[in-house]
Amino acid sequence: MAVVATLSFREARDCVIAKVAGAGKPPVEEIGLDEADGRVLAEEVAADRDYPAVARSLRDGYAVRSADLPGAFEVIGEVRAGGIFERPVGPGEALEIMTGAPVPEGADQVVMLEHTRREDGRMTTDRGPNRGEWVNPKGSEAKAGQAVLAAGARLDYSSIAMLATVGKIRVKAYRRPRVAILATGDELVEAGAVPREYQIRNSNAVSLAAQARRAGGIPEILPAAPDEREATRRLLERGLRADLLLISGGVSAGKYDVVEQALEELEAEFFFDGTLIQPGKPTVFGRARGTFFFGLPGNPVSTMVTFNIFARAALESLGGQSEVALPVFPSRLTGPFRHKTGLTRFLPARLSPDGGELTPIKWQGSSDVAAAARANAFLVADPERESWEAGEWMPAMPK
Ligand code: AMP
Ligand code: MG
Repeated sequence: MAVVATLSFREARDCVIAKVAGAGKPPVEEIGLDEADGRVLAEEVAADRDYPAVARSLRDGYAVRSADLPGAFEVIGEVRAGGIFERPVGPGEALEIMTGAPVPEGADQVVMLEHTRREDGRMTTDRGPNRGEWVNPKGSEAKAGQAVLAAGARLDYSSIAMLATVGKIRVKAYRRPRVAILATGDELVEAGAVPREYQIRNSNAVSLAAQARRAGGIPEILPAAPDEREATRRLLERGLRADLLLISGGVSAGKYDVVEQALEELEAEFFFDGTLIQPGKPTVFGRARGTFFFGLPGNPVSTMVTFNIFARAALESLGGQSEVALPVFPSRLTGPFRHKTGLTRFLPARLSPDGGELTPIKWQGSSDVAAAARANAFLVADPERESWEAGEWMPAMPK
């Protein structure tokens, strides 16, 4: 077999991102706002008018001319959100105004209700002039025609609010990529079956499907492949018809790890077939028949971690997302931690509810699904550092 590269975590991730970025954008479809959550925008969206469309009050109070402050004012009426006061505010005049209501011509400051007194139709305040205070100027949030959402953005509740605000009820979105999932291993039985003691239930197919869905893909689980080259190749061919193929298991150096050989028979290009991480060292990334594939090590926690740090970026990018992020943030260790240098480690951990504290979870290694299920994050141990004390910062990658 050809010798392929073993890369550091960073190099491997950069390799995935660079290769997939060159793949071009997926086809586009039109969707409604009710289907937009999590989808990737395929067009730039612009403001249809100024936001706000008129100057609006940010507080309940009185709209006045700042030059008149402080002083006593004649109250000329009131305006609330949804209404309009048709004439300008003149010198010495105050208009009672509610939050969200248009600030009329002439007025350039709103005095909060709390800072005013009202007597015999007059309003008195000792607030001084502060031009623009509590007034949200016309066009200050967005100007008519200005881009408010960029193509390639993954839509969430706030971007959906933006679409609704500008009246864009149908938008162009990239088609969700189809992700074929192929678990391999003679030991596998379906999750609904009763395994013999030397067998295990196939959990990777469903965990990968859930992770793929979360990353914007449409998963298709293929029948599990036995550890035999011919059968594996046939299933790989099927999987390569999707937009991305995820294979679990069969990529280590064992006698029955036939995935790489079967991929070679399909004239696959390999970009790397090892990474300096743990779990997940034997991860493979390549392309065959125009489709990118990952060979993820079969131990369930390895599969989960390597999907998250590598395959997710590929999938998001194939889905048209312009930025692929791997959120990792520092948290304080609740106890000391040490590891052997050389590999970047991603180990099950528990973040406190506010994210401030990080506790490693005892585990039996990368087969330990129970530990992964108890975790809500993976701590990320730097390959060049050996030990951390309690209270020191350590990067955490939320699950
Ligand atoms: P492999 O990468 O094929 O050497 O698999 C490593 C180990 O992961 C195997 O011994 C199995 O215990 C486990 N494994 C492989 N595939 C799956 C799967 N689909 N679901 C759960 N565990 C798996
Ligand atoms: Mg195997």
